[in-house]
Amino acid sequence: MYFLTDEERKQLLKGFLPRSRQMEIAEELRGWNWHQPPLAPVYDIRMALYEVANSYCKTNRDLYLRKIDRIKSKPNSAMIRGKVFHDILVRVLVRAKRLIYEKGVGNFQEILEQLNTPLDLSFLTEYQSQLKEDEFIELKKKAATVAAFENARVAARIQEILVKQPYIAEDSLAALAIPVVVEQKLDGTFFGLSANLSADAYTFSEPMVLDLKFGEQKKFHRLTTTGYALVMEAIYEFPINIGCLVYAEFKGDRLVVKKDIHIIDDELRQWFIEERDEKMRMIYEEIDPGLGQCYDYCPYILQCRG
Ligand code: SF4
Repeated sequence: MYFLTDEERKQLLKGFLPRSRQMEIAEELRGWNWHQPPLAPVYDIRMALYEVANSYCKTNRDLYLRKIDRIKSKPNSAMIRGKVFHDILVRVLVRAKRLIYEKGVGNFQEILEQLNTPLDLSFLTEYQSQLKEDEFIELKKKAATVAAFENARVAARIQEILVKQPYIAEDSLAALAIPVVVEQKLDGTFFGLSANLSADAYTFSEPMVLDLKFGEQKKFHRLTTTGYALVMEAIYEFPINIGCLVYAEFKGDRLVVKKDIHIIDDELRQWFIEERDEKMRMIYEEIDPGLGQCYDYCPYILQCRG
């Protein structure tokens, strides 16, 4: 899912990349200027990146309940589904990399055979008690579809590269076929964020942060890629100009994947910092923001609406 199609690659190479290189990003909004305003955090508070970026609750009362009232919510079925599908992608991609290194290029037939073997989904049982029976059956079915889709994509990429590169070795094959680091761990303390952030994926073929979403597209989703880009700029001191949100959804039994490639421009950077500052102020001053327009599957619906 993190791999671009030929059309998306063209869009990236001929559209987003040249535009992003010409675009002037304000120097004070580059992550490496984390130590001065406006990037330096005003309050001595730590937040998870999703807490800054997400605005599913319009008033942010979910954040208030979690941080001030210390109420932990139970994940709803959509959250569990998202977590499982993320986990499956990590398992597929890591398994593929491991197979390349363990088997070696000379045994590529074995690599492909094992990629065709369905992923072991026994880990799903840990979610069984949190879901209704029909939800769990559905989850298993969809999880198998996600795993099969990604396995097939990886196998095809390995074959494509082997055809073109007769002298390739394991390390290069792994890097070309699967050019992403999944769950990259990052320290976000420069920005008042957690020390243990985890970006869904990062492509090193072109500096681009990817985030996978299962569910409806929202404008604020771009704040996630923006936040990771700022943190990476602070850590590695090189510019990250492009983000990509990968939206996956099921239409019946079919998996449909769409991508929202975007430039991480001044507007997004400012928006991220404003959200962080506003939410930190709410926590610091313990301001209950009150109820907003609630959505049915909010995990805090009982606490707020009784
Ligand atoms: S129930 Fe409503 S106000 Fe409470 S956290 Fe959820 S969306 Fe926000």
